[in-house]
Amino acid sequence: MECDVLVIGCGPAGLSAAGYAARAGYSVIAIDALAPGGQLLYIDEIENYPGVSSTSGFALAESFEKQAVSFGVSIEFMKAESIRKEGDAFIVTAGGDEIKSKAVIFASGARHRHLGCQGEEEYQGKGVSYCATCDGPFFKGRKIAVVGGGDTALTDALYLSKLGSEVHIIHRRGEFRGQKVLQDRVMAKENIFLHMNATVQSINGDGKGVKSVTLSDGSELDVNAVFIFVGVIPNSEMLEGFAELDKGFVVTDGHMRTSVPGLFAAGDVRTTPFRQVVTAAGDGAEAAHSADEYIQNL
Ligand code: NAP
Repeated sequence: MECDVLVIGCGPAGLSAAGYAARAGYSVIAIDALAPGGQLLYIDEIENYPGVSSTSGFALAESFEKQAVSFGVSIEFMKAESIRKEGDAFIVTAGGDEIKSKAVIFASGARHRHLGCQGEEEYQGKGVSYCATCDGPFFKGRKIAVVGGGDTALTDALYLSKLGSEVHIIHRRGEFRGQKVLQDRVMAKENIFLHMNATVQSINGDGKGVKSVTLSDGSELDVNAVFIFVGVIPNSEMLEGFAELDKGFVVTDGHMRTSVPGLFAAGDVRTTPFRQVVTAAGDGAEAAHSADEYIQNL
């Protein structure tokens, strides 16, 4: 197979990039091992995507896909395995095939690290969440647990403390990893309670929603939601040794250019402080624009 622009990953970043590149007149193949939509497929309700008052992640994913296809993008279900450059051409192996392209936009996303405790998978979407801005508003006035001690846990605990009646931060060590300024703000909040040197043994509920968590000392904490912020894992393994990575995230400049000319990265897989559907889609548009400039100068 051959195309001008190959997009790896069909989440919001990848489909936005693919659509923009196809509209600019390029032949575009977008590949994904799973159904198009990326992490959108795991979000029950989205109310913070600009211009769309409220929709399901599935519906938004479907409209991203339909729009990209209407612009001429060819979506293929295959898992990208390796990437190399031969002269100016990129060769990506996927599903046993080779795809040759002039530019590659890497938008493979990142997966939230899970705790792996009892109840975590069962209550996903029923109180267990990995996104405060997505799901926090569903727990107004309720008791919320936040797991983790990094910048995300502290920032999002502060955000959630404006919504929930109580926020309980559960952190496995006696010190936070997150910035001092965030720690100070957390300490100053009257409705944030700290549970240090503690881990979550199980998340308990009645089948419909979360009711409590059991901590490592055996105590039980009554909460209606558990927000887990113990880091994310970028899906960048195939770029190791090919492009510059920082803790696994693909290093880009503001134009989504990576350390390899012609390779662009967009969305959650790249170094970015804010991982949202709208920022991923914006990255995708920027990456397509940069790929256009790059191809014109070949
Ligand atoms: P992070 O910095 O990797 O922190 C993850 C936290 O989760 C750590 O406190 C870690 O504990 C804990 N943890 C990891 N695995 C765990 C497990 N299995 N069980 C229990 N706890 C576990 O991740 P992040 O907070 O998502 O931040 C990611 C990056 O984005 C960082 O570079 C951060 O600075 C940046 N960021 C910046 C901002 C900002 O500047 N406002 C906001 C958000 C994120 P330990 O501390 O014991 O390792």
